[in-house]
Amino acid sequence: MKPVVPFVSAASPDERQIWRSALPKALREFAEVKPFDTLTETERNAAKVAIVANPDPAEVAAMPNLVWVQSLWAGVERLAAELPDDGPLIVRLTDPQMAETMSEAVLAWTLYLHRDMPRYMRQQQQKVWLGHELKTPGERTVGVLGLGKLGAASARRLKANGFDVLGWSRSEKVLDNISCFHGQAGLTTVLNRSDIIVILMPLTEDTHGMLGTDELKACKKGAAVINFARGPILQSDALLEALDSGPLDHAILDVFDEEPLPQSHPFWSHEKVTVLPHISAPTITSTASKIVAENIGGYFKTGTVPPSVDRRRGY
Ligand code: NAP
Repeated sequence: MKPVVPFVSAASPDERQIWRSALPKALREFAEVKPFDTLTETERNAAKVAIVANPDPAEVAAMPNLVWVQSLWAGVERLAAELPDDGPLIVRLTDPQMAETMSEAVLAWTLYLHRDMPRYMRQQQQKVWLGHELKTPGERTVGVLGLGKLGAASARRLKANGFDVLGWSRSEKVLDNISCFHGQAGLTTVLNRSDIIVILMPLTEDTHGMLGTDELKACKKGAAVINFARGPILQSDALLEALDSGPLDHAILDVFDEEPLPQSHPFWSHEKVTVLPHISAPTITSTASKIVAENIGGYFKTGTVPPSVDRRRGY
């Protein structure tokens, strides 16, 4: 008999339905995927691995012998905060397609800023016909904060498009043709030099509120920021102040402290803010299901749990 792999999710009914159809197909050769609410007590006790998407922590806790959980999302700050430290290991989704999708989004919105689109949109509203000097990508410095799966792919794609790219991470990194920095001094250098700053760090205790008034004051006059990581990394009040009084000229925001962004939030109508509804790199069901199947199939064959979140670091 095939082992049962519980699927634990409090995502929207539509989203749950998509996964409830895709996951059993992807794992069918070696496991039976069953929604948590259909498990028997014996199946709950026997489960060693579960697939999770915004799970109710009580449901995860109701499976006492879980060794690990496979998340369907790349960002696992909520899961890491909700599951006990001595609970199951957390494996986040690392999908090469997601890195492709994110780097495409980073390139698209960097080009949007590089080609002065916000300014031309404002001009159109005022029926102004006026061209501005065009810089080459090589004259534009883009700083990528966070050089993990998504940040490194984005930095490389920006470089391939001719931008001058700087990178910043917690530990020291080497990436071809990209000047990499780390530590607090490194952050200041990247902020001082970048025309466009791309945030692609995970939300952890260390990165929560990391970019506030002092950091934004270190940015170049007229710089722009793209936050595709998590809202609380970039302090909203400090951002509004930096847009209203300088030095920042524009912000592209895909992630917020509260999502959906409340109707009354000033970001919605701020002329220097582009609001996106958390769409820069969604999980793609087809490719993610394959990765999940490989991870869980590998575990059943060899007993090896894929690399998991370091609970002390938070990512
Ligand atoms: P990752 O592979 O874990 O990489 C994280 C990077 O951030 C690493 O380079 C890490 O440094 C750096 N970092 C972590 N803490 C830091 C700190 N305190 N100071 C400086 N650098 C720090 O993560 P990923 O797969 O690239 O994903 C990044 C985030 O993107 C996810 O956590 C998620 O929140 C977000 N995301 C957003 C969307 C969306 O649609 N908007 C989609 C997917 C993911 P080291 O290299 O030194 O470890």
